Amino acid sequence: MTDKEVLDLFRQSGALLEGHFRLSSGLHSDRYLQSALVLQYPEFAELLGRAIAERTAHLQATAVLSPALGGIVIGQEVGRALHVRALFAERQDGALILRRGFTLAPSDRVLVVEDVITTGGSTRETMAVAQSAGAQVLGAAAIIDRGRGGARLNLPLQTLVTMEVPAYPPESCPLCAKGLAVVKPGSRA
Ligand SMILES: [Zn+2]
Repeated sequence: MTDKEVLDLFRQSGALLEGHFRLSSGLHSDRYLQSALVLQYPEFAELLGRAIAERTAHLQATAVLSPALGGIVIGQEVGRALHVRALFAERQDGALILRRGFTLAPSDRVLVVEDVITTGGSTRETMAVAQSAGAQVLGAAAIIDRGRGGARLNLPLQTLVTMEVPAYPPESCPLCAKGLAVVKPGSRA
């Protein structure tokens, strides 16, 4: 899949909007990205999962590990395409851990899969979950790289699209300066 094909799926499903948005952080942006909206279509999720699998098959992972909740759907699809287990880690008392009887062994070669990587923080945390279980972590993959996270992983990172989403405090927002009305994503006009 090309960058354009990936972004077309996002646009078709309303997962990528262009305009003037007030994000949940309170910051303003000219773009709104919500990968759950593209992944709600199983056929799109499958295409994206297969595209990530094509770029990571050479690593010969034996398991995919994703952080809940955002990484679960795409992790499942990458696991399907690679024909390996797809596990997820989830938070308990603030720490990401394996629950539900999920296990990783020292013989496991793990690919960490997320929907969107921004700072790399949750990716590193998910890698640490696999490492603390004794497994080998091969690298990470995501549909979208929103910034400069990849450099901080010290392991290979494969992403389908790199897209920085600018965010501005309202008082220095160039779109506000132009007098454009701001909308909260998800609200219906
Ligand atoms: Zn604004």
